[in-house]
Amino acid sequence: MSYLIYRGPSLIDRAPIFAALTGIEIPSSNPKTGPMAQIWVLRDDIPPIEAVHTGQDVSVCGDCKLRGDGTGKQRSCYVQVWQAPNNVFKHRHKLKPAPPKIYDGRAIRFGAYGEVSVIPVHLVADIHRRAKMTTGYTHQWKTTDPEFKHYLMASCDSVEERELAKEKGWATFRIKQPHEFLEAGEVLCPASKEAGMKKQCITCGLCAGVRPNGKSIDVVINVHGAGQRHFGGVT
Ligand code: SF4
Repeated sequence: MSYLIYRGPSLIDRAPIFAALTGIEIPSSNPKTGPMAQIWVLRDDIPPIEAVHTGQDVSVCGDCKLRGDGTGKQRSCYVQVWQAPNNVFKHRHKLKPAPPKIYDGRAIRFGAYGEVSVIPVHLVADIHRRAKMTTGYTHQWKTTDPEFKHYLMASCDSVEERELAKEKGWATFRIKQPHEFLEAGEVLCPASKEAGMKKQCITCGLCAGVRPNGKSIDVVINVHGAGQRHFGGVT
């Protein structure tokens, strides 16, 4: 059973989008995250592959550089949109409204595809409050509601971006080239190959934004996934 969390306009461009919760009966088998339930954010009117190839994925991905050039080229996002996202899209009219208690005590990954900063922040806050733990990321940290910093990591693609995000008070998740070093205050993602895959997200939980006490740990991972050769314009 999968559930509908939101159906309405994108906070980026007001295009029709929806957010779905999956993995309740059968949690994700993703070896990096562990068995977490997942939230997907997709266009409601066009399949995700069409959205990627026409640039209309901006409604759910914003200005994330990993999207590529808006035609499907130069894409470095690790998500293969014709797989799981397309499956969620195809079955979107069978989704049941999510009962509030569905989140209680669960481990939930925000934005298995798309990002939750395009849906109202109070929905994300409520899920975070009810869940046992959540992880999530946003590339929209320069422009989005700063309230999201309590639930999401600022995705950064360079040291300069991370410095700007820190000035704005975000916890950061930086993708780097393998030869780059860690900066002060950063730790390697323990689920990464370069850190020896010591943990999964479900047992780590660092990527939950700035904590209520104002503290945070910034995370780094080497670029990975199918499109990694396009990262930073390298082809
Ligand atoms: S730092 Fe922890 S929560 Fe974040 S991606 Fe890595 S394993 Fe997952």
